[in-house]
Amino acid sequence: MIADNLLNAFSLTSKYFNLIFENNLEKFPQAIVFEGLDAYAQCFYALELARILNCTGTKDENCECLNCRWIRENKHPAINFVSQIHFKPSDDDSKTTISTKQAKEIEKSLRETSDYHRFFIFFDAKNAPQDELQKKSIQMYSPKGYNIFPDEDWVLNHINSKTFNPASINVLLKSVEEPPKRTTFVFLTKNRSDLLNTIVSRSQVFKLPSLCAKNDVSYIKNFIGNYPKISYASAFDLSLDVQNYLRENEIAPEVLLDDMLLYFINMLKLNSNEPLYSKISQDISYISDAKRQLLASINIKIVLEALYLKFARSSL
Ligand SMILES: [Zn+2]
Repeated sequence: MIADNLLNAFSLTSKYFNLIFENNLEKFPQAIVFEGLDAYAQCFYALELARILNCTGTKDENCECLNCRWIRENKHPAINFVSQIHFKPSDDDSKTTISTKQAKEIEKSLRETSDYHRFFIFFDAKNAPQDELQKKSIQMYSPKGYNIFPDEDWVLNHINSKTFNPASINVLLKSVEEPPKRTTFVFLTKNRSDLLNTIVSRSQVFKLPSLCAKNDVSYIKNFIGNYPKISYASAFDLSLDVQNYLRENEIAPEVLLDDMLLYFINMLKLNSNEPLYSKISQDISYISDAKRQLLASINIKIVLEALYLKFARSSL
């Protein structure tokens, strides 16, 4: 089923899809909107869904059936990227938007029958070299054996308000409303509000929170109160602040704990005096424990409360 790296990164969404794959294939959505900060993660996720639906072998990530191999190499006949530079008919010279001609081309291709589960993955693209962050995303989210984005001379971005030619949406809408069986449209967005409501209302929306850590971890100081003095009462408040922050900014808990770890390690470097040094070292091990608990699927609320209570207990 869904490749391990994506399963770990997006466990809730993956549980949902794995259940559908096991018992309820006819419930597989015909239109999906992905929301989140990382467009490459969303694209790999869509490709994994397409791979499992088209697999004629074991469906797991090591499967070597022809369909799985085609998808990993980005040459499956039923998987279509649609952007300003993909899926352009030869007589289409529009370069900056997804055009009406493209939408009509999709409509036309849907009239032909297919032996496969067809995917149309919509995103914004432009010809440019990948930056470091994009390379990191590709490395991080690419499941084993995939060879898709490295060395490409274009970059994949989220759909924005200018991606579609307005007239193309109306044509596209007809296909999205009544797609033939075994056809799925996927839209990669930062937020559903970047897509026309008429499309969103016909889609299932899934959030894929970003796992790429920020380099600047200074924001962690907002979440350590009067460290090294943390009272038991403030432990619960701080834990709540962190939970709200994660929710509002769509940040994965693992990322925050990694940032916290880095912040504490920096603190350690600046404080060589006892007893503060021992306290910080001890708390670093508590943060590592919290990371392990998260990996063991323990609820983030419980993990954070336990962590802050340990900070409080060892308070100076
Ligand atoms: Zn397979």
